[in-house]
Amino acid sequence: MTAETAWQRPASTGLLTKLMTAVRPQFRVEVYLPDPGDRILGRPLCSVLGCDRSGAEHRLCSAHGFRWRAAGCPDMSVFLADPGPLLHGRIELSGCAVDGCRYGTHGLGLCTRHRGRFTRSGQSEPATWAATFPTVSEPDHAQRGLPFCSLWIEYRHQLFCKSHHTRWCQLGRPAIQDYITHCLDRGKARINFSTLTPQLKLEFQYAVQRRFDDNSITAPTPVINWAIRVAANAGVSSLLDYDEDHWRAMTASKSSCSYQGFLIHARNAVELLAQGTGWEVEYDRDIWRLHTLPGVTRNPGKTDNARNNLRFDRISQPWLRNLAKRWIRQRLVSGLAVSTVLVDAGAVTRFSRFLDQCSPTISSLAGVDRPLLERYLGWPAGQNGSQAMREDAVTCLHTFFQAIRQHGWDDSLPTTAAFFPGDAPRRPPAASRQLSEHVMAQIESPANLDRWSHPQCRLLTLILIRCGLRASDATSLDFGCLIHDGQGAPQGPGKVADRSCRAVLAGQHEFEWSVGVSGVMSDGFCDVAGSVQSKKSDGQVS
Ligand SMILES: [Zn+2]
Ligand SMILES: [Zn+2]
Ligand SMILES: [Zn+2]
Repeated sequence: MTAETAWQRPASTGLLTKLMTAVRPQFRVEVYLPDPGDRILGRPLCSVLGCDRSGAEHRLCSAHGFRWRAAGCPDMSVFLADPGPLLHGRIELSGCAVDGCRYGTHGLGLCTRHRGRFTRSGQSEPATWAATFPTVSEPDHAQRGLPFCSLWIEYRHQLFCKSHHTRWCQLGRPAIQDYITHCLDRGKARINFSTLTPQLKLEFQYAVQRRFDDNSITAPTPVINWAIRVAANAGVSSLLDYDEDHWRAMTASKSSCSYQGFLIHARNAVELLAQGTGWEVEYDRDIWRLHTLPGVTRNPGKTDNARNNLRFDRISQPWLRNLAKRWIRQRLVSGLAVSTVLVDAGAVTRFSRFLDQCSPTISSLAGVDRPLLERYLGWPAGQNGSQAMREDAVTCLHTFFQAIRQHGWDDSLPTTAAFFPGDAPRRPPAASRQLSEHVMAQIESPANLDRWSHPQCRLLTLILIRCGLRASDATSLDFGCLIHDGQGAPQGPGKVADRSCRAVLAGQHEFEWSVGVSGVMSDGFCDVAGSVQSKKSDGQVS
């Protein structure tokens, strides 16, 4: 968002209603505890056998991590073999030393009443005194709420043993079920929405739900809780109170990690919900969120929800920006892939920069004539960029001007504004894209293939070698992607059937066997592909 298109908060009318409709009961809670097996929000359990707390550093919970460090950071297998007694909060509290007495201790290993008797007895050794005391025989009056505590309730009006009653008081006497939940969930990863104002709470719940539903980018609970704290401390009533740039500036210290990414995701998810999606919403924006537009041809290897932004804010001339938008929309609607259109937009952006630097007085399309274009032809050569970029600078702009004339978007474009054969820089001989034989021999060597720690990665390498696929194509293959000829012979992945893989694969039954029968092309392959895609999906194209 540029300064000249200052952020205007979308009308909040209906946003609250939309949020209340959109957020499912699963996420509409004060504290959300993700399942440890949830690959997006969950955290695996502590590595110590039987510990139900969430793992963090070294996959140990904080309490076991503290013990591990206190023991001098031994080898993890040694520590896990003997991690010590159960943690506080899971271990039975100590009871009175007198046989049969199940009240909690009140000093000297004795409950309140037996400590008083011991003191009055004049003896010096409480354990010895307790051993001689007659066995207490009382009906069981253990508290019932906390499953790991069987000590007795001290007084009739209380609900827990002495120590747990004290803790309940220290926590401000919360509702009984809340207290029990608090005790049972201690040490488990959680998302705490409770500190947020009502609308902000719904917005974060919606953002978490979206991340959960997208099922592509992880959102660890510390990341989400950090974003919640940032928003709460900002004193806003909605994430839409600030534009994306403002939130980025506020959190610049976290810009290189997922923390800022989640906060921006949350804001943008709410904005999408508020404004809706489609060309009518997107066209007037200076940054198009291509991932929100229906019917756009994605880049190979990109998931449908992968972020893909197209920036017009870097085209500084409004008249040029408007025409560029019109052209790019027409290109996208016609079915051209996002990658192609991004190149087109890049070419217009570079032309805008040329005008800024070399002809800042031109204020309309009428000033774009052949003499100006001839000056432009020499300009890309002095810019950093590839040969392809220098070619695109001519060919894309030529197509752009053609479209303006063809569709009658602006009749002021001079007829001399055209490029001619020979204007594009001569292409140098292309370097061979083949790997040299000695490199291929190393890649194909069974010994080297066996160095993969996962069979899925080994198979992926084989697919790349034999089909000649790009990595992005291979990671986006569907299951059952092979097509067959009339005799049932595999002909290659159908999605890329126009590539040379058809010929390469013909007759290679053993390859189909490795894909279809060996079972390595199972969920694990999705994990490999998914991890590649999810790493890409956070990136923004600009
Ligand atoms: Zn633990
Ligand atoms: Zn006692
Ligand atoms: Zn207790």
